[in-house]
Amino acid sequence: MPEARHKKIPRGARGRRSSPPRVTLVLTAAVLLPMLLALAGCSSEKPHVETPRLLFFGVDSGNWNILTPMIQAGELPNMASLVERGSFGVLKSGVPIQSPQMWTSIATGVVPEKHGIMRFTAEIPGTGREVPVTSNMRKVKAFWNILSEADITVGIVGWWPSWPAEPVNGFMIAQRAWPVNWSRHGIPFGAARDESGRLIVEDFEGRTYPEELYADFEPFIITEEDVTADELSRLFQDPAFTDPAKQFYARWVFAKDKTFADAGLAMLKRFHPDVLALYLQGPDVVSHYYWGYQREEGFTVSPADERLYGRVVRNYYRYVDGVIGSYLAEVGDETTVMIVSDHGFETKRDLKERWERGEKIRTEEGGKDVPWDHGVDGIFIMTGPGVKKNNRLPDMSVVDVTPTMLAYLGLPVAEDMDGAPGLAALEESFLKEHPVTFVPTYETGGPRGDEAPMESPMDEGIKEKLRALGYIE
Ligand SMILES: [Zn+2]
Repeated sequence: MPEARHKKIPRGARGRRSSPPRVTLVLTAAVLLPMLLALAGCSSEKPHVETPRLLFFGVDSGNWNILTPMIQAGELPNMASLVERGSFGVLKSGVPIQSPQMWTSIATGVVPEKHGIMRFTAEIPGTGREVPVTSNMRKVKAFWNILSEADITVGIVGWWPSWPAEPVNGFMIAQRAWPVNWSRHGIPFGAARDESGRLIVEDFEGRTYPEELYADFEPFIITEEDVTADELSRLFQDPAFTDPAKQFYARWVFAKDKTFADAGLAMLKRFHPDVLALYLQGPDVVSHYYWGYQREEGFTVSPADERLYGRVVRNYYRYVDGVIGSYLAEVGDETTVMIVSDHGFETKRDLKERWERGEKIRTEEGGKDVPWDHGVDGIFIMTGPGVKKNNRLPDMSVVDVTPTMLAYLGLPVAEDMDGAPGLAALEESFLKEHPVTFVPTYETGGPRGDEAPMESPMDEGIKEKLRALGYIE
């Protein structure tokens, strides 16, 4: 079970509109007092830290192979504008190029050996049984812990791995708050429903912080059955003619991303956290399943298949661009935006010919029988006050993201982080006014991180998903 959580209301961000939180919970003196102090504008807490509002988008598998031509063709207006108004470049992934490790490196500034998330799964000690990795295994603080301690409010939505949701100065919605499972037989079927069509969701703790927020998140949950015809036709040109099995992958991940994107937007409007991070998985999943239908990548595709599946990857990026646009519309121009990916995605040119001859192949990253997979080159885009405009950056690394965020927000970078702040993204005048400072470490609270993962009722379903993606055996 998750450790005891203090009930803490996500507070409205200082400045701008301050809408009172509507999280239902018993108002004790402990929660009422800080609220009243905040309303009276006389916080008794640590000195006020000047924080710009930061929107952070984690786009799994985001890569310039897709983004550059789409931006040039005017198909991603929001990302195009962010690139034009900001700094951008390649964000190098680590090895192995896998999501839970890399997203944790992004969130901590350290390599997997130090943060302790080493694989997709981990063993329940002494059982030989593997379950998906969980947030309690992380041995170092993530940026949401560091920002929380600095009195900066955060909202973290759907990060991988993020269950159980951690106590933060704000709110967190864990990835496992989306309840859809995969059938044991590899047949995708979504979540179970009762006779009246209501989702049957097994109840367990830690899906949101605070726990009470789950009730507000739940109405946003959709499954692949809820994806509308209109939404479907934006992913597939001819949804009525696509093979349902082939259609499924885009449907379920769209339902997942839409759940988190819509819930995150609603929480942004309501709580105004200083820093809001949203993770989107879809670009990775659709790339695994539909990459090889892209003529742009040099594949030979029948006209019928191209019409049915050839645009799914690019159409998904349009959806992501729309999500980003919907968040931007909610915040002022002074808001800083960061878009990062954990790794890229690419055609494995060396394997393509062998595959076309019908040979059995396997990518270095483990992908079976297809010449496309994760690539080491991800994306980094940053736009905001003090950030250089139209500025192509030297390559950065996933471990540089948190140091960059800390330096930008005026917090010290830790000397024991493996990454360094991406100063090339920042204006000299900004750096003069906000010189980067350092502390030896943020790991002052004693050792953290459990050796063992925690079990949840979703473990088998998540493992089925990872198997279907070829991530685990
Ligand atoms: Zn992937």
